[in-house]
Amino acid sequence: MLDALFVRRWLVAAADAVDREAERLTELDSPIGDADHGSNLRRGFRAVAAVLEKEAPDTPGAVLMLAGRQLISTVGGASGPLYGTLLRRTGKDLGDAPEVDPARFAQALRTGVDAVAALGGAAPGDKTMLDALVPGIDALDNSPGSFGSFGAAREAALQGALATTPLQARKGRASYLGERSIGHQDPGATSSALLFAALAETADG
Ligand code: ADP
Ligand code: MG
Ligand code: MG
Repeated sequence: MLDALFVRRWLVAAADAVDREAERLTELDSPIGDADHGSNLRRGFRAVAAVLEKEAPDTPGAVLMLAGRQLISTVGGASGPLYGTLLRRTGKDLGDAPEVDPARFAQALRTGVDAVAALGGAAPGDKTMLDALVPGIDALDNSPGSFGSFGAAREAALQGALATTPLQARKGRASYLGERSIGHQDPGATSSALLFAALAETADG
């Protein structure tokens, strides 16, 4: 079962991963963006880790909603409201359950990913974070809902991020480049793969 502590450990692992990979995320955002994705997320996830150290909500839903609010208020770029919505809507869907099984957690994450798609108006294939989030969540759903499925989700999200390279961006800043966005990996899909990697790492213990 997944409890508030599990979700806190996931988000702190995500903050560490973002911190480690921030330069790379910003580099990916240079040719097809404004070279701030790593610094945006580093600021946001540091704030998430800090608030989770101060406050310790006692349900998975409350932890996610607090973290989502923190991302929205600290990240100026497009990714802040999008990732903030992902966490907030996932948390809201979990309600006040003190613990949930992996299948229920996957279902809530799906609700969060759907909210990201609704907010940004993007679909898989548009060269955005959804190109990693959707395969990741699909992999979670396609398994019996065991902890092992988090490893499959990590791999699917990573492959999804890598597969954004040949795509032309249809949403976000990169879409302004038209065909010139082809040949570059999407920074947001890359950071989404990091979130799934952090989730698998947390499930592994
Ligand atoms: P900004 O583009 O405002 O500088 P970031 O650099 O932090 O914001 O984030 C850029 C990433 O956000 C992109 O690589 C893409 O994955 C994601 N993104 C941008 N617009 C959308 C959208 N409409 N829907 C989903 N994801 C998006
Ligand atoms: Mg940017
Ligand atoms: Mg920006």
